[in-house]
Amino acid sequence: MKIFKFGGASVKDAEGIKNVAVVLETEHFENCLIVVSAMGKTTNALEKVVQNYFDKKNYEELVEEIKKNHLQITSELFSANHPVLAEIAVFFDDINSFLRRNKSPSYNFVYDQVVSCGEMISSKILSEYLNDIQFKNIWLDARDFIKTDSQYREGNVNWEETEKNIKILNSSKCFVTQGFIGSDSHNFTVTLGREGSDYSAAIFAYCLNADHLTIWKDVPGVMTGDPRKFENVNLLSEISYEEAIEMAYYGASVIHPKTLQPLKQKNIPFFVKSFLDPKNEGTKVSVSDENEYTETYILKENQMLMNVSTRDFSFIAEEHLSLIFSYLAKYNIKISLMQNSAISLALCLEDKFNNINLLNDELHHFFNTELTENVSLFTIRNANLKNIEKFYTGKNVLLEQISKQTVQMVIS
Ligand code: ADP
Ligand code: ASP
Ligand code: MG
Repeated sequence: MKIFKFGGASVKDAEGIKNVAVVLETEHFENCLIVVSAMGKTTNALEKVVQNYFDKKNYEELVEEIKKNHLQITSELFSANHPVLAEIAVFFDDINSFLRRNKSPSYNFVYDQVVSCGEMISSKILSEYLNDIQFKNIWLDARDFIKTDSQYREGNVNWEETEKNIKILNSSKCFVTQGFIGSDSHNFTVTLGREGSDYSAAIFAYCLNADHLTIWKDVPGVMTGDPRKFENVNLLSEISYEEAIEMAYYGASVIHPKTLQPLKQKNIPFFVKSFLDPKNEGTKVSVSDENEYTETYILKENQMLMNVSTRDFSFIAEEHLSLIFSYLAKYNIKISLMQNSAISLALCLEDKFNNINLLNDELHHFFNTELTENVSLFTIRNANLKNIEKFYTGKNVLLEQISKQTVQMVIS
């Protein structure tokens, strides 16, 4: 079975949906499972709905706006009396009535119930459109298959249950389902983290022992750097799982970092290709030693630099580290880079859930802390160490670390 994942950029409008069919034709539409993200920037728009709801501002107008955009797209794809139009309208009514009736004070719980609708709607539209043009497929609710714990906004997959659910799918058929979402043991919706649709596709690929997984992007494949941020970057036609996971971990957002682990477990070949140029080879990620030494550049933005130091000139010892890490885990703040000296610890942090002030307050009971917001982590993989001066010019470097062939600097 083949797994294809189409992200938000590939289905941002009616042309995008039609283009999915063009891509599927070049790949032969048979024995496949298609994972789709919300259309364009829908997830951001739904996040705003949730924010307004908690800020006690008008959210219904925002829901109406998102509905209008989707109905505009569907009007370009379907006839005016097509049954999918009523189905789409119901999703939006459900958002409003859920929020009107909701009693849960949990931001993360409400977020998942609302934001997941983006994928529900896009997958309905894509599935119906493909059926209409005789690409016969079965629409699946991913929440019946991907089971997670109840960590809303960052669900952890229950692999045993998920595998049991997915492996019964008939591999001679075609399916369309949602990325980004699963459900917990109470059947509440749980999202897998922003940009998590790549990961969903890898979960399906793993559980179905897929022949391969292809994710369709707005770039030719994995390049030596993000073409939006770096000049003169080249396509990497082949890389290893190890190189891909390192690049994704350091912040190459073309692949969600959790995607690689399930694929590597079963050595499932993984392709990153352009939905604008589907005949082009793109990047193949597999067991490979190609491009092992090619220099690549990764800029991870929206980071914070926190310096934690002891007040009494004592060493930063194991018990201090353990305390600091326990607070980082408590507030779900991720470490992108760290470096310690005798009496201080420098942490480059990613705070997806806006908890940095809570962390800072807690640490302040024990340590001196210094916080610099809005910094970036610049990573050069496989750097030619004899020639790294050029990377420093014009940058305000707050912290640097060189390990093996990897040069990293926190810059402001
Ligand atoms: P999706 O439509 O699946 O959500 P993304 O926007 O998440 O796709 O990923 C594609 C984007 O990843 C590209 O537009 C590009 O700006 C960015 N990107 C970051 N690093 C790289 C890289 N090394 N090679 C190619 N693209 C990259
Ligand atoms: N729609 C979700 C997001 O924008 C998941 C994804 O696109 O991968 O984060
Ligand atoms: Mg994305």
